[in-house]
Amino acid sequence: MRGQLRHSRSPWLFALGLAIATSACENDGPVLPAQLDGVVYMNARAYTQNATRDEVSALVVRDGVFEYVGELAGAQPYIDAGYQAVDLGGRMVLPGLHDNHIHVMGAAPLNVCDLQGLGVDLGELATTVTDCVPKYAPTADQWLVVSQWAPYYGNEPTAEYPTIRAALDAAAPDNPVALQGTDAHTNAYNSKALALAQDPSGKVVGFNEKTLGPGGVFEQYAPYVNLETGVIREDARSAIPAPDYSNVLFVPDTEQARTLYGEILPDIDLMMASRGITSIQDACATDFVRGQLQAMQDRGLLHMHVTEAICFIDEDYAGTTDIDKHIEKAKSVRAALEGNPLIKADVVKIFADGVLEGDPFTDPPFVPNAGMIANYQIPHLHLDDKTGDVTILANSEDSGNNGLVNYDTAKLEDYVSAIDAEGFGVHIHAIGDRTTRVALDALQTARDRNGETGNPATFAHLQIVHPDDQARLGELGVFLAFTYSWIGAIKDYDLLVTPFVEASKEGQDIHAFLYDTQSYSWANTYPVETTRKAGAILVAGSDVPVESRDPRPFLNITRGVTRIADDGLAYNSAQSASLEEILAAYTINGARGVRTDAYTGSLEVGKSADFIVLDRNLFDLVAQGRPGDMADTIVELTVFQGNEVYRKPEE
Ligand SMILES: [Zn+2]
Repeated sequence: MRGQLRHSRSPWLFALGLAIATSACENDGPVLPAQLDGVVYMNARAYTQNATRDEVSALVVRDGVFEYVGELAGAQPYIDAGYQAVDLGGRMVLPGLHDNHIHVMGAAPLNVCDLQGLGVDLGELATTVTDCVPKYAPTADQWLVVSQWAPYYGNEPTAEYPTIRAALDAAAPDNPVALQGTDAHTNAYNSKALALAQDPSGKVVGFNEKTLGPGGVFEQYAPYVNLETGVIREDARSAIPAPDYSNVLFVPDTEQARTLYGEILPDIDLMMASRGITSIQDACATDFVRGQLQAMQDRGLLHMHVTEAICFIDEDYAGTTDIDKHIEKAKSVRAALEGNPLIKADVVKIFADGVLEGDPFTDPPFVPNAGMIANYQIPHLHLDDKTGDVTILANSEDSGNNGLVNYDTAKLEDYVSAIDAEGFGVHIHAIGDRTTRVALDALQTARDRNGETGNPATFAHLQIVHPDDQARLGELGVFLAFTYSWIGAIKDYDLLVTPFVEASKEGQDIHAFLYDTQSYSWANTYPVETTRKAGAILVAGSDVPVESRDPRPFLNITRGVTRIADDGLAYNSAQSASLEEILAAYTINGARGVRTDAYTGSLEVGKSADFIVLDRNLFDLVAQGRPGDMADTIVELTVFQGNEVYRKPEE
């Protein structure tokens, strides 16, 4: 850090510092170099995100840090001293954005067959797959893996293809095909692929009525396999040996994977810089992901501060976590990065449950698996293929099942306590309300055992949280990584969740059912504002590539404020955050959540000169009653450590 001018807020002090710089007698900081290569950014509307949330008009940058932050008059001495002056023309300036839950290796498409998350009907699906076969699986029996398939949108049957399986069979009769769902929990396969399922000894026995039936080798997978459609969920997918390069959580650390990803590292760098993101927490840093982040740095493609959440996803879901082994591994990963200027690994990730999406239109309905306090309902819905209308045919029933939490309370208490005791932050994937409750119990136990260590705890997703636990999230000061872009009334999506959480009645209007303002779901889905008011700290996480490879920070900011998605209805506007709070989530709170606030997260003297210039002023849009227009915000300039790393191309 530059000691000399760190506190030079006043021009008088600056002048003094300059005058005595050559003698360096004032303090032990470095002396000013003879050549002044600093830059003054002037005429900004810069929102500093400092403790008093000051707005200033000038930023002075040199040697990668802010040398001065304040009004233009105070920057004049720097201009006089020969610093380059850049006029920002009244543009909005923010600190570089923090994405505290991202799987960054998913931020650009691989050169593989890719559906880009677009919901397409089965005719279009067949066309895409037909086109991909000669390019990506030119010989018979070669695997065709199709990435970014949308399990919850599109997939409408056509006259020719009644099911996904039929469409894939017609499109690729000679090759096994695997569609990888954007949700990372759902795949679909053709008949050739289903026939390749292997039993635990590695023998090819296939998924069929016999192997999935009573006494069959895959009997336990039966609820997760739909032979008619070819859709397979969760762990059942592991029986089919499709090479899985595009699901970033499960990419094997092989030569082929390194080659495929090596091609897209520049695209990832560009994606992040163009969205104004200069700090991330990779939410599942496997050995492969860590290797690729290192490769980005080695190739000069890393323009972000990176916190790696060390990840043991297989053990979390298999229930085989060996706490001592994980701590030992985490410590060695952390130690190996000691002194790295951009990458650190001081967080351990825990996947504590699955997801809250089911499928009410299969027979029987596929029930979600996230850990809930109440049992899931089994709905009886009918979808009219022609009109798209959904009707409730009969009263829902109690399924007798409230989902899964991957850890029992005692084990999670021991694990979280051990993580905290060794100085790591903990980052917990918690979707269902029971999972959040168990995670809070574990965190409370860790605090009781270890005292207040100050190591941050982040919970991600928090789709439904019980009111008691909303208060506890506040009491324990948990950092909450909501993906705000997922908030809003989105009927196609809500149909996959609400009918399993709320009891439905025969003949009830579907819209009235989904958006019943008296329901538990309405009050407690993504409870942003009640948790914040209780004392929890909002951060932001795009969860790229789930749903989108683009981290879409301005869509997230917009929906955090409006809670309005495409359907136009605000999903419980009482939980809307203010723009101020969402911007704090994306900046200073994000920095605190990964313990980089000493040098990132705000525009303050001495901090890393990471900032972005926007094409519009978000506060003006809110004041004008046009918050929805924030979603189209374009980043014109991204500066990281004082260097321009992205500039919007000229039109
Ligand atoms: Zn995630």
